[in-house]
Amino acid sequence: MDFDPKKNYYDILDIPETATPEEAKKAFKKLAVKHHPDRGGDKAKFQEINEAFQVLWDERKKSQYDAYRKWWFSGGFGDGGFWWFGGQGGFDVDFWDLFGSMFGGGFWGGEESRANVGGDDIQVSISISFEESFLGTSKKIAYSRNVKIANIQDKTCSTCHGRGRVAKRVQTPFGIMQSQWACPDCGGLGKTYTKDGKSLDNPFEKRKDTIEVKIPEGINDGVYIKFTGKGNEWLDGHDGDLYIKINITASSLYERKGDNLYIKVPVTIFDLVLGGEHEIPHPEGKFKVKIPKATQIGDMVKIANKGFGKSGIFGKKGDLYLIPKVDIPKKLSKEEEKLWQQLAAL
Ligand SMILES: [Zn+2]
Repeated sequence: MDFDPKKNYYDILDIPETATPEEAKKAFKKLAVKHHPDRGGDKAKFQEINEAFQVLWDERKKSQYDAYRKWWFSGGFGDGGFWWFGGQGGFDVDFWDLFGSMFGGGFWGGEESRANVGGDDIQVSISISFEESFLGTSKKIAYSRNVKIANIQDKTCSTCHGRGRVAKRVQTPFGIMQSQWACPDCGGLGKTYTKDGKSLDNPFEKRKDTIEVKIPEGINDGVYIKFTGKGNEWLDGHDGDLYIKINITASSLYERKGDNLYIKVPVTIFDLVLGGEHEIPHPEGKFKVKIPKATQIGDMVKIANKGFGKSGIFGKKGDLYLIPKVDIPKKLSKEEEKLWQQLAAL
């Protein structure tokens, strides 16, 4: 990759000269998201950030850059302009990997990989209640994504002749060096686009979309539901995917462990000693359960097949466990106290 010793890459990434590669990467990610042309950012600014990052996150290149800069400022080059690192370095792979994970390939995919790149994946999170996670539900999600602009004309890019990448070979004091990068005129697409005679930066526009998400009963917290092709659109059908992340709001009433459902039920000491009937809450609706006689403190009352999951021949439902929470009377009347004393004397 080229670098220009006159440019201060540290200023561009807003990091000190002592910054580690990790710090450079962090700064780059932040700025790249902000300035990515795919997201309406300025292409030139983005390329500058890109260029700075490629140099500063690689210790070898960073030290070369620092050396070049020293040399440059001491008058070594004259007005030589750009310089290139050797093409063999790990940069291409690492860089596209990093970028791929941020934007799913996006505009900046290389020539060889272009057939494989696609639109970005999109992730949206939604929250559902504990009860909804038990019963299943359906939600309408609104989100925005890139879609192809209708009725546009395209032309093979004259800068890269459709390859999407440009390369340069340059004689330097260290021998011939070569590098290639995404074509600046078509952003790596290999084509340029116009609509009604006006040229477009890219053939996509943001559009609001809604999607109906059927959430199955018994879904777990943190699960993703994938909608293939519902992410950002791409040119030749390799549209990105939409991932809906399900967050289940914690409940003060219920708890889930595996497919079992746990409910805390307030009871009296009489309920435990003598047994008693209790109405308990349940996502499917309240119902009455019997607390057996002589239930011990700490014992749970199991009710089979009232937990999570599907019932039926192939399905296996979890169980429901009641956790009796004993309320010891805080205040006794004289008479009550006498009765308790009589009990105690037995
Ligand atoms: Zn081009």
